Amino acid sequence: MAIHFLLSAKARTLSLKAVFSMSEDKAYETFKALRFAETDGEAVCPRCGCLESYRNAKRRNFECAGCKHQFTVTSGTIFANRKMSFTDLLAAIVIFVNGAKGVAALQLSRDLDCQYKTAFVLSHKLREAMAREQASVQLNGIVEIDGGYFGGHVRPENRKEDRKDRRLKAHRSDKRQCVVIMRSRSGRSLPFVVANEGDACPIVRDRVGTLATIYADEGTGWDALHAGWDTKRVNHSVAFMDEGVCTNQAESYFSRLRRAEIGTHHHIAGPYLHAYANEMAWREDHRRVDNGRQAMLVAGAVMASRQSRSWTGYWQRAA
Ligand SMILES: [Zn+2]
Repeated sequence: MAIHFLLSAKARTLSLKAVFSMSEDKAYETFKALRFAETDGEAVCPRCGCLESYRNAKRRNFECAGCKHQFTVTSGTIFANRKMSFTDLLAAIVIFVNGAKGVAALQLSRDLDCQYKTAFVLSHKLREAMAREQASVQLNGIVEIDGGYFGGHVRPENRKEDRKDRRLKAHRSDKRQCVVIMRSRSGRSLPFVVANEGDACPIVRDRVGTLATIYADEGTGWDALHAGWDTKRVNHSVAFMDEGVCTNQAESYFSRLRRAEIGTHHHIAGPYLHAYANEMAWREDHRRVDNGRQAMLVAGAVMASRQSRSWTGYWQRAA
């Protein structure tokens, strides 16, 4: 792949300084190499798959020799109809992957000197590309499963006599949602958003191989798993690890998601909760990968993606 010129051989890092000192052409070539990775950077018509095309270098677009379809490197991807320069898009990706606890859209808008809304939509497009990588994964080996609740904070009343017992179900907010993480010790982490922990059992059926061993805590929602898998439980009120059985990897994921909630976004809930949950799973799974490689993985996922239906105006208006 022709992305080697971006990453130095020794430290596979990519600094903002390096991005901003590169020319727009070089940033463009990076995206082009990632988009047409299978043909070593040679343009492929997205409509008919033809390998021959006329290139207009000045406008950075192509015309298919077969069907005359005009296209660019971002046509049909999440970055289709981009207005930002390729350098800015690459910089956005570097800033985004560098934030171990996530990056606030306001911070990104200040760093890139763009509007808050632009930064907000751009970050969500990057999350969508990250999620794409996890879409078809199946988990095997030892799989830890655990749930954590997000959103629906109930503020205690001022006076003690007015306060309610917030532990009771009747006093909880209906905005509270449960993130369930399934984390293979030898592979990926897959998060899902459900109403209650036990609701995730049907999803486990789809995403966890039948030969896997599941580690879960004492939560009664997981009892159903014993029917389909070799399931081992650890009672957290007694010990965090019991004869090697623990859900510490799952807890580590929640630690990162909580830090993103408390330290960066202050509020991750509602309709976007799954997007943040996916982002943090991606970060957890790639935590030992250098930032330059991470940036190329995200940029590659963006270039391999289809046009976003959630984050482009057309579908939002037409829905
Ligand atoms: Zn064509």
